[in-house]
Amino acid sequence: MPVPGELTLVAPRRAKPPRHLADLAPAERRAAVEELGHKGFRAAQLSTHYFTHHSDDPTTWTDFPAKHREALAAALFPRLLTPVRDIECDAGTTRKTLWRLFDGALVESVLMRYPDRVTVCVSSQAGCGMNCPFCATGQAGLTRNMSTAEIVDQVVAASRALDRGEVAGGPGRVSNIVFMGMGEPLANYNATAAAVARLIDPTPDGLGLSRRSVTVSTVGLVPGIAKLTNSGLGVTLAVSLHAPDDELRDTLVPINTRYPVGEVVAAAHEYFVKTGRRVSIEYAMIRDINDQAWRADELARVLAFAGPGAWVHVNLIPLNPTPGSQWTASRSRDEKAFVRRLETAGVPVTVRDTRGREIDGACGQLAAADLLDPEEQLS
Ligand code: SAH
Repeated sequence: MPVPGELTLVAPRRAKPPRHLADLAPAERRAAVEELGHKGFRAAQLSTHYFTHHSDDPTTWTDFPAKHREALAAALFPRLLTPVRDIECDAGTTRKTLWRLFDGALVESVLMRYPDRVTVCVSSQAGCGMNCPFCATGQAGLTRNMSTAEIVDQVVAASRALDRGEVAGGPGRVSNIVFMGMGEPLANYNATAAAVARLIDPTPDGLGLSRRSVTVSTVGLVPGIAKLTNSGLGVTLAVSLHAPDDELRDTLVPINTRYPVGEVVAAAHEYFVKTGRRVSIEYAMIRDINDQAWRADELARVLAFAGPGAWVHVNLIPLNPTPGSQWTASRSRDEKAFVRRLETAGVPVTVRDTRGREIDGACGQLAAADLLDPEEQLS
């Protein structure tokens, strides 16, 4: 467990997850298939199985000679995620899955079905090095970065469950992705950017999701935000601010000591200017810590200072309980007053409906190890 304020910016070096088709860009897939002694067009067939039909099961690949299926599957579809446990709430429309990775590391993803959309919340690292004291993942420290395919396969697994009608509400499709599970996506920039490419590339090269429906959420790594700005990926950016002043933010979001509020907000504004995408500012409402009316005014001032107009949208998240934390969610009247002050200042604001609290699947509650029986933890 990290000591308060300690940051882990470089992920521990670990054995790499095995190579998977989803790690590769389309041209690399062709090269890989040729190296395995097959014609290049086979790569597109494999992509269709995986990205269009969500299948990594060679017995269904009837367009391949049976004698080649097993070898291709072994070379390009190693098992990356092994389900350990599913827990559901909201009458089965919210489902958290605990996955074991090839090396025993544990991560979680959460599927949330709404009347008009299905959102999958994915992890980008096993654990997290950012050490935010109100977040359960941060308290556990960073185990390792996830690979591109480990990130993508969380979405493909959710898509498969929906195809098969395993989620309450009948068969459906994933429409939205949020990088709001375990980890800091911009601390694992290359894998995150490649995973986003797989999500938004049209089928069969990728899953064909709309770039606007993919949200990358960051603690505020300014160089990472700048890279994303110039990447051309055009996804929605969310920034976890949680305080408008450096004095408080230094304690809530330790990376603030490197990248203070002014720099983070300026980088977020630059994202808007270059991409035209409105940025979302996340703000966990913590009773008597960051929820005072004067802080709402200060937040409005800081955002207006970066740029005029509706370049930004504030998403207030009622604090979710985490083990060992002394903090709790804001009182309703304080939350209402905070919203009113922002609205008066002309800042668009919503309060997030946080799903999955009962299953420790809500924001800041993903901590994998809590879920396991002691016996499983030993294995
Ligand atoms: N590392 C990224 C991705 C995590 S996203 C980031 O910091 O943005 C999860 C979101 O939930 C972040 O905005 C995070 O600050 C917020 N969060 C963390 N712990 C929380 C808690 N206990 N209650 C409510 N929101 C929390």
